[in-house]
Amino acid sequence: MDIEQARKAAEKLRQQIEYHGQKYYVEDNPEISDYDYDMMLRELEGIELAFPELVTPDSPTQHVGGAASSKFEPVTHSVPMESLHDSFSEEEIREFDRKMKAAVGTPAYVVEPKFDGLSVSLEYRNGILIRGSTRGDGVVGEDVTENIRTIRTVPLQLKKSIPFLEVRGEIYMSNENFLKLVEKQELNEERPFKNPRNAAAGSLRQKDSSITAQRNLDIYVFNIQQIEGIELHNHKESLDYLTDLGFRTPPFYHVYENIEDVLSEIRRIGELRGTFSFPLDGAVIKINDFAQRNLIGSTSKFPKWAEAFKYPPEEKETVLLDIQVNVGRTGVLTPTGIFEPVLLAGTTVSRATLHNEDFIKEKDVRIGDTVVLRKAGEIIPEVVAVKRHAPQSKPYEMPVRCPSCGSPVVREEGEAALRCDNTDCPAQLLRHLIHFVSRDAMDIDGMGPALLEQLVQNDLVHSPADLYQLDKERVEQLERMGKKSVENMAAAIEKSKSNELYRLIYALGIRHIGQKAAKLLAKEFPSIDQLLTATAEEMEEIDGFGHIMAQSAACYFALPQTTELIQKLRDAGVQMRDLKVEEKTDHRLEGKTFVLTGTLPHYTRQQASQLIEKLGGKVSSSVSKKTSYVLAGEEAGSKLAKAEKLGIPILSEDEFLNLCGQEEIGE
Ligand code: AMP
Ligand code: ZN
Repeated sequence: MDIEQARKAAEKLRQQIEYHGQKYYVEDNPEISDYDYDMMLRELEGIELAFPELVTPDSPTQHVGGAASSKFEPVTHSVPMESLHDSFSEEEIREFDRKMKAAVGTPAYVVEPKFDGLSVSLEYRNGILIRGSTRGDGVVGEDVTENIRTIRTVPLQLKKSIPFLEVRGEIYMSNENFLKLVEKQELNEERPFKNPRNAAAGSLRQKDSSITAQRNLDIYVFNIQQIEGIELHNHKESLDYLTDLGFRTPPFYHVYENIEDVLSEIRRIGELRGTFSFPLDGAVIKINDFAQRNLIGSTSKFPKWAEAFKYPPEEKETVLLDIQVNVGRTGVLTPTGIFEPVLLAGTTVSRATLHNEDFIKEKDVRIGDTVVLRKAGEIIPEVVAVKRHAPQSKPYEMPVRCPSCGSPVVREEGEAALRCDNTDCPAQLLRHLIHFVSRDAMDIDGMGPALLEQLVQNDLVHSPADLYQLDKERVEQLERMGKKSVENMAAAIEKSKSNELYRLIYALGIRHIGQKAAKLLAKEFPSIDQLLTATAEEMEEIDGFGHIMAQSAACYFALPQTTELIQKLRDAGVQMRDLKVEEKTDHRLEGKTFVLTGTLPHYTRQQASQLIEKLGGKVSSSVSKKTSYVLAGEEAGSKLAKAEKLGIPILSEDEFLNLCGQEEIGE
């Protein structure tokens, strides 16, 4: 592909991605699968990687973050980001209406959902996003531009170029993504986010924007803070205008003149509140007309022309039909209540976690009982209390044997959890494998839970090490597997062998060792061999490491099963040390400048660049007389020609690796 072909292909892809992105993210009406969408995005990334000069600031690829932002800078909001006054009853809303009538005579209102996320300001100059910041205390917030750029529903470039615009919106996590995230956190035995609002705030205020990118946040924009170049007269008009600019505005906003119509809209939203894709904790009523707003004014904290209505948490009675007990990755037994289905805050609820043995004892929950369920802004339903016991009911006893393998369960001192201690427990094995291959761990693409379950059921895998010894022919015979998918799987498995060390440590699924702790361990002990002999005391000295974490990790590495597993993984060719740290002292490329072009057979450009920098070299984007080497892959473009003209040595990937002395880490 030459640059002209690439330019055309990139333009076409951007148009398609834009179109389908609009369908999916803004209109909630996708025409193609997520997978196909991701594939187009990936193709575009490929082109942009090969021809970096074709990257535009508004390219959809620029939505996906990677760089770590250092620290949040303070941002002073030139228009304060005000709060809202809350109402909890219809009477208060009528009272609000009386005040508005007294002030302006004939008010008209717009009613919107009150999105439950965190408030941000977005600033655009000449139609390009220049800054995104949190509300903070309303006057000073934090600069989170890098993180906001990763949110796909935030336009990086507006459809019309206007000199300056500042808007306000709410960043949130959809209910669906929230439930997925919590499930993953529970699987990893991390403390899950309590509600979508916390999840949104926690995900946006990350130092590493690639984490924000993974969390799939969304935005609704509901206000213009400042605008230059156009005059708007009322709220509805401004929302329509924002929609035209490409913003995602509230899914419905209508103008009402009668307060009874406002109240029925509030009731309607309340009844439907659990059925929306976004979390909400109320409705907001705003005066539509801007001249009227000015007349009414603000207090020091909130506008007097708007009012929030907060819905009460909904509670309902139902019958507890059964208690199911599942086994988690580290063997923890978790009881789940199965209920007679009830409609609660807009969704049908038939299950809720009962947490652990203590929770059940404390509330004295028994099978057959009539219980009270509640769902608040929190979208996870919970058991508030037992209303009455079933006749002849008996206190519930947790099983004494693991429901999956039948081994006796134990309860360790000071812990609420019951646990199956059998490391061969199939339920545990499956959870363990799911964790092992997951994106934050070994990141083995194409090994979904369904495939892993089949592998376990068919006795093909008894430990994570077995993933590296799979008999391809047998895997191919499994349901829904074909030659192509097995090839892809094998490639992903192969690739995972050269992962950074922290991934392996995290993948081992050591209790209390999350991804962050794994990174700390890898930094301090840059090889598994060092970890196998490290003591708890040594680990506790790591900054950010607690006593429990150190104890848990040291115990784990001292187990004979661990040594055995590590040996098997090592035999399979899994990387056991951290190259980055170990090679820090190697400066063999010092003073050399490299230019990369084309597609390399094994390395991505990013990997090659990392290697060069690790060895003290520099990477530059254009060829000049100062260039030491050009590393050229397939379909190399104009840079190769230029290098030839200037007589600069051109390296293949193999030659490059020889130069680096890095043959052994080739994939
Ligand atoms: P509170 O957090 O209870 O003080 O409520 C005020 C917050 O509601 C503001 O900071 C906004 O971020 C948020 N909010 C959510 N949806 C809307 C909306 N449609 N209009 C105005 N504010 C909203
Ligand atoms: Zn078991």
